[in-house]
Amino acid sequence: MTPKPLRVLIVEDSATDAKLVAQALRQTNRVIDFLRVEDEVSMRRELETASWDLIISDWSMPKFNALTALAVMKGMELDLPFIIVSGTIGEETAVAAMRAGAHDYVLKDKLARLAPVVEREVRESKIREERRQAAKALLESEARYRRIVETTSEGVWVIDAGGKTTFMNARMAQMLGCDVNRGIGRSPSEFLDDKDNAALTTYLRLASMGIANQVEVRFLHNDGTSVSALLEATPVFDAARHYEGSLAMVMDISERKRSEAARRASESRFKCLWESGIILIAISDTGDKIIEINDAGLELLGYARDELLAQPIYWDDLTPPESRRADETARAQLMSRGIASPWEKELIRKDGRRVSILAAAAILDDSVRIVIGVDLTERKRAEQNLQERMRVAALTADIALVLTHEDALERILQRCVGSLAEHLDIDFVRIWTIEAPNNVLVLQATAGGRGNQLQAPLGAHLGEAEAGHVVRTREPYLTNDMPLDSRGGDVSMAAFAGYPLLVDGELVGVVGLFSREPLSEVTGNGLGSLANTIAVGIQRNNVTRANVQLEAQLRQAQKMEAVGRLAGGVAHDFNNILSVILSSADFIGSDAKAGDSIRDDAHEIYKAAMRAAGLTRQLLMFSRQQVLAPKVLDLDEVLENMDKMLRRILGEDVEFAIRRNARLGRVRVDPSSIDQVIMNLVVNARDAMPTGGKLTIETTNVVLDESFVHQHPGANLGPHVMLTVSDTGTGMDQATQQRIFEPFFTTKQVGKGTGLGLSTVLGIVQQSQGVIRVDSEPGKGTTFNIYLPRVDDVLEADRANHPNSTLHGSETILLVEDEDQVRMAAQSLLERNGYQVIEMSSPGEALLYSETNPQPIDLLLTDVVMPQMSGPELARRLALTRPKMKVLCMSGYADDSIVRHGVFESEIAFFQKPFTPDTLMRKVREVLDA
Ligand code: ADP
Ligand code: MG
Repeated sequence: MTPKPLRVLIVEDSATDAKLVAQALRQTNRVIDFLRVEDEVSMRRELETASWDLIISDWSMPKFNALTALAVMKGMELDLPFIIVSGTIGEETAVAAMRAGAHDYVLKDKLARLAPVVEREVRESKIREERRQAAKALLESEARYRRIVETTSEGVWVIDAGGKTTFMNARMAQMLGCDVNRGIGRSPSEFLDDKDNAALTTYLRLASMGIANQVEVRFLHNDGTSVSALLEATPVFDAARHYEGSLAMVMDISERKRSEAARRASESRFKCLWESGIILIAISDTGDKIIEINDAGLELLGYARDELLAQPIYWDDLTPPESRRADETARAQLMSRGIASPWEKELIRKDGRRVSILAAAAILDDSVRIVIGVDLTERKRAEQNLQERMRVAALTADIALVLTHEDALERILQRCVGSLAEHLDIDFVRIWTIEAPNNVLVLQATAGGRGNQLQAPLGAHLGEAEAGHVVRTREPYLTNDMPLDSRGGDVSMAAFAGYPLLVDGELVGVVGLFSREPLSEVTGNGLGSLANTIAVGIQRNNVTRANVQLEAQLRQAQKMEAVGRLAGGVAHDFNNILSVILSSADFIGSDAKAGDSIRDDAHEIYKAAMRAAGLTRQLLMFSRQQVLAPKVLDLDEVLENMDKMLRRILGEDVEFAIRRNARLGRVRVDPSSIDQVIMNLVVNARDAMPTGGKLTIETTNVVLDESFVHQHPGANLGPHVMLTVSDTGTGMDQATQQRIFEPFFTTKQVGKGTGLGLSTVLGIVQQSQGVIRVDSEPGKGTTFNIYLPRVDDVLEADRANHPNSTLHGSETILLVEDEDQVRMAAQSLLERNGYQVIEMSSPGEALLYSETNPQPIDLLLTDVVMPQMSGPELARRLALTRPKMKVLCMSGYADDSIVRHGVFESEIAFFQKPFTPDTLMRKVREVLDA
């Protein structure tokens, strides 16, 4: 290995001298590489462009000198060995050169010394260079450490043995809340409270002994904030191993503290949530198996903890198929984002019921997930309530529309139930109305809700008991657990909500809602107003119906009055004629010898005249112009007496039953008229059952109320006896029912019906202050109800039925009759039976006779309607002078004039023409014997 050549810059004006110097340098055994320069410019150039180990300079040159060269080198901040070679250099010059920085000098004549000098200088220069490098390195490393200390994220704090700050870095100053420079000299106690200061002092002492690692303190700032720090100190000792102080590394742990506090807070919040009992919280593994769940969750699901965790149970087990899709979406979200935003789903409880929840999920770490759920049942219910309220509003509008567009009640109610079922989405809806006279519930309309297929048609008694409850309490009634036998055959139909239909406090009906799902209160509240609307509809209908009925009844009454007047007039004249025919036939018959055919003929005439008399009697009855002789009666007794006869009329094919009421009230009616009423009804019933059937006659006590009276003009309030005649015959349509009470209305063949039966019945009933009502439907039979006022009087003996009464007598009778034929017939009848008869053709004659003849008169037998004076008036006048005289009035007609003539006012006995010998003689005897 060849040593590096020594590069020498020789500053010399003489090339020879330079060679000599180089020669001398060879003594160093080194390869010498030299260059000669002789002025400042070239020297500078060489120093700048190349590197040199050594400069050897001549002391003095014509254009240059050593001291200047030395200055050039120093000016270029070079520290090369600089040796001066001089021919003539004095001691003084040498000292000045050395002072200027030359390292040595050698005289030209002693160049042998040069080699060792150079050797030494080069060595020293090398050492110098190395030192320089070392110093530089030290400087750099110090700067680096300083930079580290200054820029470290930790605080560096030096506290001396006296407890004063000797150094702090910027981070530390920041932690202490002061300026770097101002902090020097301050005591830690200025930054700490007493407790922390004591703790720090103790720590530093312990640390100096090497027996403590860290202390945690809190630096308080002027602005009220603070910094928590962890401090670790290293003791510093001086050369003599005296404790100088501590160098502390200080770490700001405020953030850690804060997040720890936050974590603790969030943990405690989570604990609150977990235990709150409101929110379901469950932890599941990545396979969706539930591994932990809170009490709220257990309650929501209806499981016990052990039960749920032991099984094991997966989310899918708790999720109905309908919710699976939403779950999948949430799961995808969970996988991609670590959190699934809230979604609605249902859970299946242990008991199979479902609950709606709002669920949310998050991945807690790689192995577990958290699912939280809020029970939506309440919210769903609230939503449902709102919806129901909306529906009720729509419904009210709908029904109001129905009310304004429809007239017929059935149609109104049918549309009401239809709307209710549809809008409320209710399984079944019914409306009942309350019908007089007995306030019975009548089912008017029924509708099933949309999409609610029934397994079987529901029974008519569905909800009847519950509706009855509403009627009794007049309050809404809601139950979600209807008794099984009220459910109309569908046992799942458990919920019922009923509302009274009230108008001004009057109950007109009930609306009932039926559902398989529990019904809520709000349906009821909403329906309250709706029920009012429907109720008004029903009532309006009732009123119009009553009006229509009243009008029809009025027309009927007017018609009857006209017909009655006509019939009455005809009957009057007819009766007089019949009286003559009857008595004449009787005379002929009794005058003829036995066996004579004339006798039979006379009897035929008599019979025919009697039939005619029956007809006029009927005419007078329906025209209400027959004078009735009412008696207090027990209808059951009447029926018992008629039983045999009625059975005969009905024949074999008709099953006949009389149902009696144990304690039937009494009525006051004309006995023969009530016989006729019953008979007419029974005959009609028989005609309606040509192939047989069943006839039931029933008697009941009833009390007629306001609404009944309202609907049946002519009826009176209070206790009545109801006589019901019902058959299972052909029945009648509405049109026929409208006309049956009209005289001469018949649907029977010519010769079979007269059309007078029911008009007679009506006449008798009305004259007895009663009412009649018919219920019939084609094919379903007919029921007649007759309501007669109940009386408290005791039964009257039937005076007409005196046994052994003889028709003969010898008393004096004053007979006053303006019709000659009638007078003559009556006279001969009376005389034949032994009476003394004084006959007069006018009341005037009778008065005159009475005044002029003092003989006693036992009986005045007089016509009622006569020219000049009425029969009763004549009786009154005669009574003034003959107080003991009995009076019997007779008339062929019984209109208002009889009342005007005072027959009813007095105790005057009355006899209805036409008379037969028998009836006249009985009546005369009756009056004389009274
Ligand atoms: P008539 O019996 O002479 O026809 P009514 O006045 O007794 O006259 O009856 C009038 C009509 O009323 C009858 O023709 C019949 O059409 C109808 N009617 C009366 N009672 C009944 C009944 N029980 N069932 C069916 N129709 C009846
Ligand atoms: Mg009849």
